[in-house]
Amino acid sequence: MKEVIASIITIGDELLIGQTIDTNSAFIAQQLNSIGIRVGRRVAVGDQETAIRKALNDESTFADLIILTGGLGPTADDITKPLLCDYFGGKLRRDQETLEHIERLFNEVYKRPGALLARNQKQADVPDNCTILHNPRGTAPGMLFQKENCIYISLPGVPQEMKDIFIGSVIPYLKKNLKTPFIIHRTLLTAGIGESMLAEKLVEFEASLDPSLKLAYLPQYGMVKLRVTATGTHEAALTKQIESTFDQLKELVYEHLVTDKDEKLEAVIGRLLNEKQATLSTAESCTGGMIASMLTALPGSSNYFKGSIVAYANETKENLLGVEPATLTAAGAVSEQAVREMAVGALQQVKTTYAIAVSGIMGPDGGSVQKPVGTVWIAVANERTVSTHCLQLGFDRLRNTQQTAISALNMLRQFILTESPD
Ligand code: AMP
Ligand code: MG
Repeated sequence: MKEVIASIITIGDELLIGQTIDTNSAFIAQQLNSIGIRVGRRVAVGDQETAIRKALNDESTFADLIILTGGLGPTADDITKPLLCDYFGGKLRRDQETLEHIERLFNEVYKRPGALLARNQKQADVPDNCTILHNPRGTAPGMLFQKENCIYISLPGVPQEMKDIFIGSVIPYLKKNLKTPFIIHRTLLTAGIGESMLAEKLVEFEASLDPSLKLAYLPQYGMVKLRVTATGTHEAALTKQIESTFDQLKELVYEHLVTDKDEKLEAVIGRLLNEKQATLSTAESCTGGMIASMLTALPGSSNYFKGSIVAYANETKENLLGVEPATLTAAGAVSEQAVREMAVGALQQVKTTYAIAVSGIMGPDGGSVQKPVGTVWIAVANERTVSTHCLQLGFDRLRNTQQTAISALNMLRQFILTESPD
C-alpha cells in the first residue's frame, strides 16, 4: 500500500512574528497520524500572495494531501480564498446555503440581528471548483480542491473552527477516499536517567527493532519520553508487534519508568493519590505556585489537591507556614531546615496526607558563594517522615523554575512509592 504523505501550510503574519503559537499544525498532525497519514513537512508563511503560491507549488511536489489553515477572515489581510480560487482556475460564486448559515449565526449565535455587512456576505462566496466543508461555528467555510492527484484542503485559522471542520468533514472524507496504512504510537516516560545513558542501555534493543518500528527519544526537564511508532497495513498484527516490543522496552527501562502511557507526571501523581485516597498540598517559594498550577490543570484534581501556600517573603514563610525566625536567620530561606519546616507547615495548615515544599534561587541574581544561583531545596513530607533533596540547576530563571516543579513532583512520586506502610 502506498504511503499517503501530507504537508501542512499554516498562513498568517502572526505566526511568523511569534504573536500566535501554531497549535493548528500539532492538532492536524495528530489527527492525520491517527488515520495512518504521515506528515512529511510543515511550513508557515505570511499573508502574502507570492509566499502562499510558492508554498503550494513546493509542497505539491511531494505531498498527496495539503492542509492549509488561516487567511479566511472577512478582512483585507486575509487573502487565501481568492488566491486559491485563482490558483485552481475557478471563479467565486455566492453559495446560498452558506449565506443562510452566516445569517443564522449573526441572528442566533452572535446575537447581532439586522442586515449583514457586505464583507460578511462575501464569506459566502466560494470558488466554483471546490467542495464546501461546512463550518458549524464560524462564517468561513472550509474548501476542498483536487488537482493532479493531490488533495488541497483550506480551513480557517481559528483553532476551534478548524477543529470542528476537521473532525466533522475532513476526517470522514479522507477515511472514505484514501487507502492508508495504520500508524500506532506507544509512549512511556522515564526519570532519573539522561538521554545518552538511556540510549546506551537500548543499543541492542534498537539494533534488533523491526524496520516497521521506530524508536524516538524526547527529552524534557530531567525526564525522557520514549515513543515507539509502528506503521503497517494489518492493524491486528501491528498491534501485537508493537505491544510485544513495547513490553520489552518497559522491561529494559523498568527502574526508571514513570508511566507507560502518553501522559504527564501530574497525571501519574493524581492516580497514585486517588488510589491511596490521599491528599496533597504545596508550600511554594521559588516556584510561585507553579506546582499547584500544574496539578490543577488536570480535571479531577480537586479529589486530591487541597491547596498551596505561596510563601515568597520570609515573613510569609513565618506567618503562614510557621517557619521559625531562627531557621531563616541561621540557615536562610534556601536551606534544608527551611523547606522541612515549610512542608510540615503545609501539612498542618492545609491538613493533607502529603506536602511538597520548595525554596531556591532561580536567578539571574541573588546567588552567593555558598548558595549559587540554581540552588534549590525540596522537601516532601507525610506526617511521619520528611525527605529532602538539594538541586544545583544551571538554566535561566524560567527553566530553573520548571525543572524545580518537575523534580519536586517526581520526588513526591518516589516518596509515595517507597514509603513504608502505616
Ligand atoms: P484567520 O483565519 O487567518 O483569520 O485566523 C484567525 C485567528 O486564528 C487569528 O486570531 C489567528 O491568530 C488564529 N490562528 C491562525 N492560524 C493559527 C494557527 N496555525 N494556530 C493557532 N491559531 C491560529
Ligand atoms: Mg489571518
